[in-house]
Amino acid sequence: MKTADVEKLYSEYVLPTYKRMPICLVKGKGSRVWDLEGKEYLDFFPGWGVSGLGHAHPRVVHAIKNQTKKIIHVANNFHILSQAKLAQAIVTNGFPGRVFFGNSGAEANEAAIKFCRIYGADGNVSGGARNEMITFTKSFHGRTMGAMSATGQDKIHQGFYPLVEKFLYAEFNDLESVKKLITPKTVAIMLEPIQGEGGIRVATKEFMQGLRKLCDEKDLLLVLDEVQTCMGRTGKMYAYQHYGIEPDIMTLAKSLGSGVPIGAMVLSRRVKKELFVPGTHGSTYGGNPLVTAAALAVFYAIKKEKLIVRAVKMGELLAAKLEELKAKYPVIEEVRGMALMRALKLSVNSDAYAAEALKRGLIINSTQGDVLRIMPALTVKPKEIEKAAAVLDLVFSTLQGQDLRLSDAQSKA
Ligand code: PLP
Repeated sequence: MKTADVEKLYSEYVLPTYKRMPICLVKGKGSRVWDLEGKEYLDFFPGWGVSGLGHAHPRVVHAIKNQTKKIIHVANNFHILSQAKLAQAIVTNGFPGRVFFGNSGAEANEAAIKFCRIYGADGNVSGGARNEMITFTKSFHGRTMGAMSATGQDKIHQGFYPLVEKFLYAEFNDLESVKKLITPKTVAIMLEPIQGEGGIRVATKEFMQGLRKLCDEKDLLLVLDEVQTCMGRTGKMYAYQHYGIEPDIMTLAKSLGSGVPIGAMVLSRRVKKELFVPGTHGSTYGGNPLVTAAALAVFYAIKKEKLIVRAVKMGELLAAKLEELKAKYPVIEEVRGMALMRALKLSVNSDAYAAEALKRGLIINSTQGDVLRIMPALTVKPKEIEKAAAVLDLVFSTLQGQDLRLSDAQSKA
């Protein structure tokens, strides 16, 4: 079979919810992937931020293989050994809390939203029922109804009205805009420490600490969506650890399983757990033996291979290379991000740059129309960063002088 044959099957049988590249990836190892025709690519956006340890990491492969031989799925009305151990690993690497498992980022956020609703229900909090949640413009929390409604981007909402009610959108890194939206009905504030889909916009320390203080003063829950920032990508196991604060709720997915579908919501022990009891929430597959065994191997690999220290070092090298490009090409306005969650903010449309990089064998991502997102695996090698930078150099020199203007909407954003 050739890629063209796969494309034909897609057009016949798969709903077109994605703009797909005319490439069918069939094999991966570390930061390299190969397509059906055997062409090799350098993958600096592995699985949309999912394959945090790179492709086919031996410890993850081993854990999955081993687990399939024992038992793949056990229902959640039984105890699951690897789920219990994973919950312990998630918590001991973060803050004292307890975990609920789902299968994706959106589901982790749905659990968080549902918890906020029940927390704010009449009788559970002071001042009567509270159900308003403050989220942020340019945020992204997922595609299910609740997570989509929490997402502060009109284009994501189009066609799906009425949304789940009571989400109010403040401006990221603007504490005053949050204060203006707080009412006696507010129950929680939810944000990504680094807005990923929003263009790698990093929350400032002042903003994050200000939000924590506000939540403490007003008895609000601080919910951090760490679906994209977790598992060492920013140079800490979880991004909140850069800020000297702890959230009340944290959601995880993507790199947590380094390829297997898993999501988790962590509830701080400071918040009463009795609000989530049998019958309030659940997931058939959530935290099954297969995915939790894989995620446990991710924690083990991060520790054994000192991948967080590595992420910081490789992140510095990557940032230095991106700064060199910025000095050379005026269309690059800014180098953004932390450790291995990086981006180039352009003054022009970024789609053509991502496409040109792909043609030259480098996978990166274009988001918000003017941002190139670059998130290699924690296992990326220095020579792979050098190679990616050389490809980007060629990409920028090739597209230099081309008319790649931003749309009106993009330039206003
Ligand atoms: N939250 C954040 C910050 C994300 O980046 C994403 C996905 O990109 C999600 C939630 C949704 O995750 P999923 O696609 O696994 O549902």
